Amino acid sequence: MSQTLRGVPAVHRFLSDPRFARYESMLGRETLKRAIDAELDRARANGVPDNYEDLAARLARSLESERRQTLLEAVNATGVLLHTNLGRAPLMGSALAAAVRIGSGYSNLEFQLDGGNRGSRHARLTPLLRSVTGAEDAVVVNNCAAAVLLILDTFAKGREVIVARNQLIEIGGGFRLPDVLERSGAQLIEVGATNKVYLRDYERALSARTALLMRSHTSNYRITGFTHDVLARDLAALAKRTAVPLVEDLGSGALVNLEEYGLPHERTVQEAIRDGIDLVAFSGDKLLGGPQAGIIVGATAYIARLRANPLIRALRVDKLTIAALGETLQAYASPKRREEIPLYRMLAASTEDLRARGRAYVEALSAHVTRLADTLSFVGGGSLPETSLPSVGIVLHSVLGAEELGRRLRHGDPAILGRVDDDALLLDLRSILPEQDAAVIAGLRSAL
Ligand SMILES: *Cc1c(COP(=O)(O)O)cnc(C)c1O
Repeated sequence: MSQTLRGVPAVHRFLSDPRFARYESMLGRETLKRAIDAELDRARANGVPDNYEDLAARLARSLESERRQTLLEAVNATGVLLHTNLGRAPLMGSALAAAVRIGSGYSNLEFQLDGGNRGSRHARLTPLLRSVTGAEDAVVVNNCAAAVLLILDTFAKGREVIVARNQLIEIGGGFRLPDVLERSGAQLIEVGATNKVYLRDYERALSARTALLMRSHTSNYRITGFTHDVLARDLAALAKRTAVPLVEDLGSGALVNLEEYGLPHERTVQEAIRDGIDLVAFSGDKLLGGPQAGIIVGATAYIARLRANPLIRALRVDKLTIAALGETLQAYASPKRREEIPLYRMLAASTEDLRARGRAYVEALSAHVTRLADTLSFVGGGSLPETSLPSVGIVLHSVLGAEELGRRLRHGDPAILGRVDDDALLLDLRSILPEQDAAVIAGLRSAL
């Protein structure tokens, strides 16, 4: 690096170039310097030093690529409402406001205002979760995977967990129920066949070594045809009779009947509690529409054991999560407030609403590159895999081709992520937040 070659510009010239100033604040001075060094090394290695402008253009491209590695706002035009790669549920305004309010100062996070002594953060959400779900008690950890891990670690270490073969799920991100069971030191006892399981299969597998009966919500696949399953409430009756706790990994965590939104019925947390499940685990950022969290609701005696597990210290949620989740749960108090949750607003949008927004796009852009088309959106997040919602898409035809146009939009600010449909790029309006429409139109203008 000390070697200098005549004609290669000096580092300081780039450092003082105003075009690169924003990268210093975004990525830090050291990263900027390293990127400059890398460009200069490449120029030296090639032997023929480029001129400053060529080098600056290359540097700009490499810094842009570094910038795109950082966490950035994006427009979800994929039509998948709970897109795990895009951060799942957007938060409602008042949930964000609560996080700002609690996060910008101090709070009673672990302090009891009544007695003036130490309290528990785990108590802060209990009243709301109790009233929304109908459960006796609740505890909240980082995500649903952590919730399942905590339950298994607390109850099933070195003991057996009975699961039906048709429920041995793998969800996204390589979370496989059999592997999680193994890692937590529990032994999996599989019962039934892939398509058929009966209560007597569970009864036969029960022994003195049984720690838990476990159900998991097969949210991302369906077994159809010649099948038989055990009703949750029948399994709950068996659990009661044998005094073995029954746990359900519900995953998506619907708190409302999705039939109200024209979707098929999705098992709700309240139903699981009513069925007599002892512990129900679900995510905060799927159908609940809140921040990432793993919520466990159920019987007080069992929740108390979860809270007493030292592992909970490693899985505990941050105060910002508690603030945002609490506020989101409050929105379930009335059907009117529910649509303040962006997910429910997106689910409730009619195709007429979407078409009206779409017409503004077509008017703002040239009509020969843009048209509206009927399309289908999906809930995503591993929920309702076979269910689509009618939607309206903006179809973009450009001489650039769908691939190149897609790349340009992905590299824009904000990044716009659509999907390729019949060789054209399509932006699904249902998953685009209406308040982003103006920015999307501006992004499309500059990309086209
Ligand atoms: C999504 C899901 C999980 C994992 O939830 P995270 O909050 O992403 O950890 C676990 N179980 C089921 C059934 C799921 O659908």
